[in-house]
Amino acid sequence: MHEWSLACELVRQAETEARRRNALRVHAVKASVGVLTGVVPELLQRAYEMARQGTCLEEAPLEIEVEAIRARCPRCGREVTLHSPALVCPDCSALGLEVLGGDGIFLASLELEVAETAGGNHV
Ligand SMILES: [Zn+2]
Repeated sequence: MHEWSLACELVRQAETEARRRNALRVHAVKASVGVLTGVVPELLQRAYEMARQGTCLEEAPLEIEVEAIRARCPRCGREVTLHSPALVCPDCSALGLEVLGGDGIFLASLELEVAETAGGNHV
C-alpha cells in the first residue's frame, strides 16, 4: 500500500523534527499532498493512525492539505493549476505539460509543545 509507506515516512520526519526541537509533545501534524501523487487522503489518514502508534505522535491528529498541480503548457506557455491528475492544458488541450508542483508529499507544519528555554521567569 502506497499510503502506508508515505505515512511511515511522515511519522519519521515529524518525530525527527520534534526531537530536534526538544518538543515535549506534538499537538498536530500537517501534511501537504500533491494531487499528482494519487494519494487518497482518507487512506493516508488511516495509515497515519496506525503508523504513529508507539511514537510521540500518538496524540497528534493529522491534517491533510491537498495541493493542486501546477504545470506549464509546452504549446501556449501558460502556467496552469489543475485539480485532477489529467495533464491536459485547459486552454489549448495540449498534452505533456511540464509539472512544476503538486507531485509530492511533504510535512507542511508541526504544532509542538516545547519546553521553556533557559532564562524564563517561572519559579
Ligand atoms: Zn496550452
